[in-house]
Amino acid sequence: MAVLDSIKETVRKRNPHDAEFIQATDEVLLSLELVAQKHPEYVENGIFERIVEPERQIVFRVPWVDDQGKVQVNRGFRVEFNSAIGPYKGGLRFHPSVNLSIIKFLGFEQCFKNALTGLPIGGGKGGSDFDPKGKSDSEVMRFCQSFMTELYRHIGADRDVPAGDIGVGAREIGYLFGQYKRIRNEYSGVLTGKGLTYGGSLARKEATGYGLCYFTQAMLEDHGSSLQGKRVVISGSGNVAIYAAEKCTQLGATVVAMSDSNGYVYDENGIDLAKMKEIKEIRRERIKEYANALPRAQYHEGCKDIWSCVCDIALPCATQNELDEQAAEVLIKNGVMAVCEGANMPCTPQAITVLKRHGILYAPGKASNAGGVATSALEMSQNSQRLSWSFDEVDARLKNIMENIYRTCADTAIAYDDKDNFMLGANIAGFEKIAEAMLAQGIV
Ligand code: NDP
Repeated sequence: MAVLDSIKETVRKRNPHDAEFIQATDEVLLSLELVAQKHPEYVENGIFERIVEPERQIVFRVPWVDDQGKVQVNRGFRVEFNSAIGPYKGGLRFHPSVNLSIIKFLGFEQCFKNALTGLPIGGGKGGSDFDPKGKSDSEVMRFCQSFMTELYRHIGADRDVPAGDIGVGAREIGYLFGQYKRIRNEYSGVLTGKGLTYGGSLARKEATGYGLCYFTQAMLEDHGSSLQGKRVVISGSGNVAIYAAEKCTQLGATVVAMSDSNGYVYDENGIDLAKMKEIKEIRRERIKEYANALPRAQYHEGCKDIWSCVCDIALPCATQNELDEQAAEVLIKNGVMAVCEGANMPCTPQAITVLKRHGILYAPGKASNAGGVATSALEMSQNSQRLSWSFDEVDARLKNIMENIYRTCADTAIAYDDKDNFMLGANIAGFEKIAEAMLAQGIV
């Protein structure tokens, strides 16, 4: 029996309804089997048992009043997963699908991702089943104020620093920050992804998408290739997807398709990013409007089929489990050479198995999308120093961090005799950093 099987069993017993959380812990524990054999001290000190159990889970009621004067109630979450290497850090997701399993899986992944950045940040995640889509600005504001009226007592610049995620962008962060400041009478770096006029960092908005491309470029260059001249398909059209598309284009690739949860657009000669930003960031409309505005583009109902578009590189940047085994097989048949995750856990375990079996380069989100949180940590540094760095300075640091993450994953995979298994490399390298800190700090 493998050393970590009993821990997988405990996770299942303790979290019987949490499919996403079990999926995420299973993947990591499988990668850590060799580490457990090599480091009996981790087993003796219960590091594996402790790392799969969040330090603290907070679930709360969020009541608010809609524009019709009707009382609405949502559920809020904050899972403070692991603080061994720094204050809890991780985004807030507002989406109707949010539940404790999703927040726990995201918080768990976040611990390893944050460790990989080399910066002093622990892991956490939060959110609500509130759906900002179709709500007025004042409804979103009232919701955010109510959410923060409970959350404020659990967070702080040196304790727990939330940021954005699906459904939480600049508008929501602004309302959340305003309410925190009002309740605490304190101006601090308690949230990241803030607006540039009140403590935000230049390049934070771009960071996850740009970082994904820096990682992808480093991986391709290490294999004698690059993004130059490649056809790229990107799912999603939110914060991560848009800036991944922008950096891909700057690096000489052509982004031919993007999506939202209703469907996808295909634009053979390359997505017009100014138009996409106008539709998605300013007008907050559906992606279908892109094809209505540009007759050369085609709109297809249903977002899953985006993976049938022929491409060299696929960047899933929407949500978890959006790229399954069947999609992986279609991508391979069409000649894909790399799949790099901008979203968290977008490829199902079966899809990853198929990609690996065919020798496709596969970059796991906890490594390839770490640029967002890394730049959030740079925002925290600037807030503490009461300084703001230039766009180029932040961008240069981001690029350097992503190249280092790539190198760490690649080298760790080689050290464990599994070259190009970046998932294994990411899981082990992230884990070892946290495990050493936990060992040093005793049983806490
Ligand atoms: P946004 O809310 O800005 O955009 C999300 C995009 O994904 C939208 O186009 C949305 O379409 C689509 N989408 C969301 N849920 C689904 C679904 N169930 N099925 C199909 N499409 C869906 O979020 P982000 O761009 O910030 O986040 C995208 C992913 O990247 C998430 O997995 C997130 O955890 C991850 N991530 C984000 C970081 C960040 O800095 N923002 C950092 C690291 C990871 P629609 O508008 O129709 O809902």
